[in-house]
Amino acid sequence: MSRLLIIGCGGVAGVAIHKCCQNSDVFTEICIASRTKSKCDAIKAKLENTTKTVITTAQVNADSKDELVALINSYKPDAVLNLALPYQDLTIMDACLETKTDYIDTANYEPEDTTDPEWKAVYEKRCKDLGFTAYFDYSWQWAYKEKFEKAGITALLGTGFDPGVTSVFTAYALKHYFDEIHYIDILDCNGGDHGYPFATNFNPEINLREVSANGSYWEDGKWIETKPMEIKRVYNFDGVGEKDMYLLHHEEIESLAKNIPNVKRIRFFMTFGQSYLTHMQCLENVGMLSTEPVMYEGREIVPIQFLKALLPDPASLGPRTKGKTNIGCIFTGVKDSKEKTIYIYNMCDHQECYKEVGSQAVSYTTGVPAMIGASLVLSGQWKKPGVYNVEEFDPDPYMEALNKFGLPWVVDENPVTVE
Ligand code: NDP
Repeated sequence: MSRLLIIGCGGVAGVAIHKCCQNSDVFTEICIASRTKSKCDAIKAKLENTTKTVITTAQVNADSKDELVALINSYKPDAVLNLALPYQDLTIMDACLETKTDYIDTANYEPEDTTDPEWKAVYEKRCKDLGFTAYFDYSWQWAYKEKFEKAGITALLGTGFDPGVTSVFTAYALKHYFDEIHYIDILDCNGGDHGYPFATNFNPEINLREVSANGSYWEDGKWIETKPMEIKRVYNFDGVGEKDMYLLHHEEIESLAKNIPNVKRIRFFMTFGQSYLTHMQCLENVGMLSTEPVMYEGREIVPIQFLKALLPDPASLGPRTKGKTNIGCIFTGVKDSKEKTIYIYNMCDHQECYKEVGSQAVSYTTGVPAMIGASLVLSGQWKKPGVYNVEEFDPDPYMEALNKFGLPWVVDENPVTVE
């Protein structure tokens, strides 16, 4: 018996809402609140006669703490699931603190305006101190730990697929297969084809910022940074086949480096086709990926936001995308003094996701774990005052829920490793 307030109603939220409605015993009531209320009303109309979950909707500007506090005070949820954009993480956390409400998200904070001098000063110091230059990092949200502890509320950070399931796979491997994990390679393969020469599978602004940034990995206690797409490997993925993959900076490297004792190296690879890379390079070369506003005919526009308006809406890719995703982690470590390697991964079929919830697999593989994370906080299994990443909790109930709610996983005890 619980009430959940979901903020945002885009691709990922659409899936999470469907999944909450399949799990009405936990989610007895949900309120969907977003900037554009008509999207919330449309999904409510689609689902309300198919579920016992009672659905209400609201309009909210999640950049405004006051609006969020007013909404939380009137709806009185047990927890808030943030499925808006990483830009809103801190205002939503502030509103949760003020109202003493648990908080859950899928992506770490990054600023909308990377020219903001206050943010930039902190960012430049972090680049120098820690050695990676991605716009996003956990420091902003980890800084809330004490405040959340004092307020007696839980913040669960990063319960999507990556971060999210990949970190739960790590906790599960450590609990059941290893005494120590030394090497982690996270492999994110999207073997889906949507037929467009160029489109992004989730929010274009966030996606393009991530993949056009410098790469980096964690080795022997420090960050090693690379040029974007500098390190390429080829891997033969179960259910997909051979794909080119590139080393990227990714947020779970930061939390796993902190939370997995004795880890020596953590890398993250994502697959990209040549067409995607050529388009991205070209857009970057002409300045279309810039987050700095430019004047155009007397009006300020942000190039990457204008590009977003031109690209297909990720939510519209569902009916067109065919093929599978395969995301997982290869772990090497020791058990009973013997070295061993295992690979835990999930395969997900774009068309099957579309048949079930009307979305492609990238939204599906994020929306399902968002629902699972929320259900574990609401049921009290993952409730502990403070700010936590998913690998800090018992992975077993999460792994069980993945099997139950559409993301079954396999353990390969003799995998091919990445050079
Ligand atoms: P979308 O752009 O499809 O949806 C974002 C939603 O947030 C939209 O409904 C949008 O409203 C709403 N929104 C944006 N700004 C505000 C605001 N100020 N106030 C209220 N609502 C707002 O994004 P996705 O669904 O693709 O992604 C959602 C989140 O999931 C992102 O944070 C993304 O980084 C994360 N993600 C995490 C992954 C993981 O594996 N961990 C993988 C993929 C995504 P409107 O409709 O008006 O635009």
